[in-house]
Amino acid sequence: MSIEAMYQDIILDHYHEKHHAGLREPYGAEVHHVNPSCGDEITLRAAIDGDTITDISYEAEGCSISQASVSVMADLLIGRDITDSMALFEEFRTMMEGQGKVPGDEDRLEDGIAFVGVAQFPARVKCAMLGWSALRDALARAGAELSPTAQ
Ligand code: ZN
Repeated sequence: MSIEAMYQDIILDHYHEKHHAGLREPYGAEVHHVNPSCGDEITLRAAIDGDTITDISYEAEGCSISQASVSVMADLLIGRDITDSMALFEEFRTMMEGQGKVPGDEDRLEDGIAFVGVAQFPARVKCAMLGWSALRDALARAGAELSPTAQ
C-alpha cells in the first residue's frame, strides 16, 4: 500500500467514525465557523480548566477532509495544555501551507500527518484548517491566553 493510500485511509477512518463528536457540556465557549468555498460548517465547543483543554466537542457538516481533520484535532488536543496545543496548531498549519512538501512530525501530529497530501490542493487547505481555526477562536472566547504567534 502506498503512503498516499495509507493517508487516505486514515482520513476516511476519521470521517466515518469521528472521535469526540457531538456537543457536550460543560463548555467555556461555543463558535460556529463556515468554509464557504466548500460548504463546510462546524459548531465547536471548548472547555478549559486553567491552562488545560478539558474538552472539545463539535458538530461538523461538509466534506470528509474538514470532518476528519476536527476528529484528529480533538484526539490530539483534549487534555493537552493550551500553550502546547497552539504549538501544534502552528505545526499543523505549517504543514498545510507547505504545498505537500513539508511533512508533519508524526510524533507530534499523529494522524494529522495524513493531511500532507491535502496540502497540495490550496482549495482544500481551508477544509483541513476549519476545525483548528474554530478551536483557536473558541479558546480565545473562553478566556484562554493565546501567545501572539498564534493570533
Ligand atoms: Zn471541505
